[in-house]
Amino acid sequence: DHLLGAAADSEDQAVEAALRPRDLGEFVGQERVREQLGLVLQAARQRGGTADHVLLSGAPGLGKTTLSMIIAAEMGVPIRITSGPAIQHAGDLAAILSSLAEGEVLFLDEIHRMSRPAEEMLYMAMEDFRVDVIVGKGPGATAIPLELPPFTLVGATTRAGLLPPPLRDRFGFTGHMEFYTPVELERVIHRSAGLLDVTVDAGGAAEIAGRSRGTPRIANRLLRRVRDYAQVRADGLVTTETAAKALDVYEVDARGLDRLDRAVLRALLTLFGGGPVGLSTLAVAVGEERETVEEVAEPFLVREGLLARTPRGRVATAAAWTHLGLVPPQAGGG
Ligand code: ATP
Repeated sequence: DHLLGAAADSEDQAVEAALRPRDLGEFVGQERVREQLGLVLQAARQRGGTADHVLLSGAPGLGKTTLSMIIAAEMGVPIRITSGPAIQHAGDLAAILSSLAEGEVLFLDEIHRMSRPAEEMLYMAMEDFRVDVIVGKGPGATAIPLELPPFTLVGATTRAGLLPPPLRDRFGFTGHMEFYTPVELERVIHRSAGLLDVTVDAGGAAEIAGRSRGTPRIANRLLRRVRDYAQVRADGLVTTETAAKALDVYEVDARGLDRLDRAVLRALLTLFGGGPVGLSTLAVAVGEERETVEEVAEPFLVREGLLARTPRGRVATAAAWTHLGLVPPQAGGG
């Protein structure tokens, strides 16, 4: 059931390093962010300085980590990778900041999940390249100023709106990462297939792309499962037919819905006539926790225009009936 999850699992982590684009030219899609970021980096290089701090917002698996590595590579500097939840105390952050090399990129994933004291230390570090390290406790505590080398902070967050404005304002550039179009995902798949030494034809790539929920991480993961199938049950070649059969085995349908997504839709349509029905009732009907339905299944169903959340409950759209091959009851009868 995790085949369509956007967060990285351990297999992803092992394979992703090999599949990551190394420069802006190799990075597929995100035309606007790529162009804007390209200008920021080129200008910084021409001035011989450090690039402005960059904030990247967008859903998991869209390439924020990849882009931060590209920023470091394009600037010819090293990169340090950490995350908000890993920095619980201001001291943790001070230790990282004071050990950065001149010009280094610091990638802070899930920056919205940093502790408050660390966040406040970061404000000063971003603006003035210095921090005050507090030594001692109570009335005897003293602040020791510490100069930092100039660095580029690349922050990543699923939603820029979650960041406190003082933090958001300290980024010189914010890039919003969009979900990828099927055509862009086909390019990601062809590129990865080349690196993994799998032969995928145009139809095979399109079939996988259509089921990848607009997310390169998922596209790469489905490609690996399709490769397994092609190797074991076919002649190794990934065609439309092989890809479709392979993904049917894994219960990923033509639109990228999995078993749970379809169970939720089917219950909504067949048990409740398409709604409106309350979340709790819907969850009981599919034998899942409320949270699972709300956080795992619904976001993608809403994004796909298959389900709507209304004040009176969950409602299926006309597209939901079509997708499951069912006929909606006659409206306004009697
Ligand atoms: P998370 O927020 O979960 O860390 P992320 O947004 O940082 O996710 P990445 O780890 O950068 O996502 O990307 C996931 C995988 O998708 C990478 O292995 C990379 O190969 C691939 N990928 C992402 N974006 C692109 C792209 N634009 N072109 C080609 N491959 C990409």
